Amino acid sequence: MTLPGPKDNDVQLAALDAAGWAEGLSFREEDGDYVTVMLLAAGLARIRDDRRRMDAGEYLTRTSAEQGLLPVPWRSGMTRLWWRFLTAGKTPPQNDLKLFELCRRPFSEWPIRLRLSVADIEQSLLDGDELTPMAEQATRLSVRDVEAELVENRVFRELMLVAELNAKDEAEVQAHYCELRRLLIDNPILTEVKVRRLTGRLPKCGRNGQPIVQRFIQAAYLHRASQGQVKIDVCDICGNPTQQGIDGCGTTGCSGRGVALVIDTVGGYYVQHRATRRFFHDPGLVEARILDRLAEMSAERTISVEAWPGLDAYDIRVSFLSGRDVIEVWGADAKDQVSPGLLGLGFTWRPDPPCDRRFLVLPKHRADQPGYFADLRAELQGRVSGVSVVSEDTFIAGVVARAEEVAQQ
Ligand SMILES: [Zn+2]
Repeated sequence: MTLPGPKDNDVQLAALDAAGWAEGLSFREEDGDYVTVMLLAAGLARIRDDRRRMDAGEYLTRTSAEQGLLPVPWRSGMTRLWWRFLTAGKTPPQNDLKLFELCRRPFSEWPIRLRLSVADIEQSLLDGDELTPMAEQATRLSVRDVEAELVENRVFRELMLVAELNAKDEAEVQAHYCELRRLLIDNPILTEVKVRRLTGRLPKCGRNGQPIVQRFIQAAYLHRASQGQVKIDVCDICGNPTQQGIDGCGTTGCSGRGVALVIDTVGGYYVQHRATRRFFHDPGLVEARILDRLAEMSAERTISVEAWPGLDAYDIRVSFLSGRDVIEVWGADAKDQVSPGLLGLGFTWRPDPPCDRRFLVLPKHRADQPGYFADLRAELQGRVSGVSVVSEDTFIAGVVARAEEVAQQ
């Protein structure tokens, strides 16, 4: 049997192809262990999804399921790992169960030292039977057949449809897009009153006579039936529902505490789908914080701020103004991700709309994490050029300083 080594580029590409990786990813030789980790994570996600579908009574027709084999990315990951164990003079995991057990342990406790960044080496892929945030992030770099990705895509598709069908020109599409994105960040829970108001503003109906904005709500939220007054425990900062008896809010980087949200219901209320929370709400918190802080400055007319320009080419576009003239334009993409290594691997910058300076902005709780900055910068080097990595506070301070400079010119 011939085993693929990390230097065997064709095999590496074939393995990636089998897993269906997102376009724009580029791997270097030293990233070999990240590829292995991503393959294992994609495999675990697929195993989870297959199990859910079978539990739901769906008959799986995919070849691997028929043959009782585990998914291709899992097997590729295992083969790569086998090779790494052997060259390190260690005994590889003897079967799938042993490898599952290994996936529950932090990489730092594995018998071989994987070449992962300092922050990533303390992570694991499984927490019990659940995928860890690191595994979820790795899985997101894969584009096929993953449940969360499907929900995310569906929410995004419905959002775009609402924005487009309710607009008369491009500017209105962009305005609706921003309103709906912000809705997902500001409202982990939606009341019937808010849904009615939204439907009033975006009334366009589909062929079945139902306002399409309701399809968007159905994709992003779960409906909970109730009547009369309802009390829900939520975080006073991020708004996510909290669990009783648990200290703090549970959302990464949030220092909020539980408070009671009391709402009046007739038929019920809406709670964000787990995937909506993970892919739109939680990572959007840092974007919303920066936008709100810049909004105060733009009121003084020294800057103008665009949220999610070019339908989300990146997150924030700041134009520095002198009278009516635009002196300079900055672009910022805010990223709240657990693994700096995977963030660096998957990061790309969309060039349109253009800007003079580009920033990858980290929320404070990531920027404060030891090694995160260094690992991310190292991973970005040679992959994306001309992007400064800064914390949210540094970015805001930079905007303030540049606005003052421009004002004095
Ligand atoms: Zn919170």
